[in-house]
Amino acid sequence: SYQQQLYAGTRAQLIDAIHVKLRDKRFEHVLRVEQTALVLAEQNGVDLEKASIAGLVHDYAKQRSDKDFVAMIEKHQLDPDLLNWGNAIWHGVVGAEFVRDELGINDEDILNAVRHHTTGAVAMSPLEQVVYMADYIEPGRTVPGIEEARRITNEDLQAGVAYQTAHTLAYLIKQQAPVYPGTILTYNRWVAGKK
Ligand code: GDP
Ligand code: FE
Ligand code: FE
Ligand code: FE
Repeated sequence: SYQQQLYAGTRAQLIDAIHVKLRDKRFEHVLRVEQTALVLAEQNGVDLEKASIAGLVHDYAKQRSDKDFVAMIEKHQLDPDLLNWGNAIWHGVVGAEFVRDELGINDEDILNAVRHHTTGAVAMSPLEQVVYMADYIEPGRTVPGIEEARRITNEDLQAGVAYQTAHTLAYLIKQQAPVYPGTILTYNRWVAGKK
């Protein structure tokens, strides 16, 4: 059971609330991200309950319809430029609003960890860095270079953030995929070292 009032229920209740919204494969990924986040949190002096909750909820909105995301962008008057993007960006940036509205989680550090888990951000708290990296290196991930990503992250969390950011941007460019402006800002701060 959680000791702090970050979620009004037990971990088992939170898991049930997430499982009903996610397919089994995605749900299993979420459990692995939680476990990886707990290890990184322990190594970096981050609150373990926040790491557990943020890991469990980071992809909470992944399976919502485009229509639901558009309605949420309008309901919370989020940046209208978001309407030009899709599920890959929305499930984090907009997904945090589903976590708040439906799960009653109001902790801004947890919500920012959800918001920024896909794109990173210029300013990321230690918890946000932990969730960003746990999502990337959880044991189910098999992308080339993953062993190096795990080694670097376990040695130096911030170096891991830089590694992921550089590799994700290179991947997007290779695919000629549209790059979200926030992704570029993350790159400028964490990889190019721009102040
Ligand atoms: P997942 O939800 O656990 O599958 O992982 P993420 O939330 O980290 O990423 C979701 C998808 O978004 C991945 O396919 C990423 O490559 C993609 N992604 C990350 N940044 C960007 C971006 O700037 N632009 C686009 N188009 N896709 C991105
Ligand atoms: Fe995600
Ligand atoms: Fe990720
Ligand atoms: Fe994920």
